[in-house]
Amino acid sequence: MRSVGLLDFLNRSPHNKKCIQCGQRAAHGYSEAAESDCRQIKPLCLPCLIGQLRSDYADFHGRAIVVAPAPGLPCYVFRDRDFLRSVSSNSERDADILFGRIGECVDCHNAGTCAWLESRGLTIKTFSDVLDKGHRHTLLAWGNPDPLSLCGRCTADRIGKILQSNAFEFFEICSPHQGQQGIVMPMAY
Ligand SMILES: [Zn+2]
Ligand SMILES: [Zn+2]
Repeated sequence: MRSVGLLDFLNRSPHNKKCIQCGQRAAHGYSEAAESDCRQIKPLCLPCLIGQLRSDYADFHGRAIVVAPAPGLPCYVFRDRDFLRSVSSNSERDADILFGRIGECVDCHNAGTCAWLESRGLTIKTFSDVLDKGHRHTLLAWGNPDPLSLCGRCTADRIGKILQSNAFEFFEICSPHQGQQGIVMPMAY
């Protein structure tokens, strides 16, 4: 597995690059899928990234747990069911239960596709516990509110607002696509 060390992360910071769509200073790196080769990670400025996320999440019709962006982690990526299963049966089981509970979007009342979770307690030291033990025994036990159902557009809007109001940057961000199932979470490799 490729690892992104802190020095690596700083050296490859998207802030040193220009947005490939508009030429403004890039804020984050965007890829099609987690653990893409560096050359496949496109530097994007925040407005261009938010446009891309809105388009990805609007097309998304699978099921995803989406944990809010948090500082101090290099990546904010989608991981599919196969990945969850390979890490632990706990997180796959937790995800299944939660997928079954996704209802109408709490923000706009359209059909929901995502279960939104806040990320209090999620750090570079604790993120692997969430993947190992599932969100119920970690994020929910750490005082985060119960998951909310959201449609894709409202999920992308919430991600965009958090990225706009914080200085942190992600080396790699990717979205769930089409009918995939899995989890989007701040993490490291
Ligand atoms: Zn741009
Ligand atoms: Zn909505």
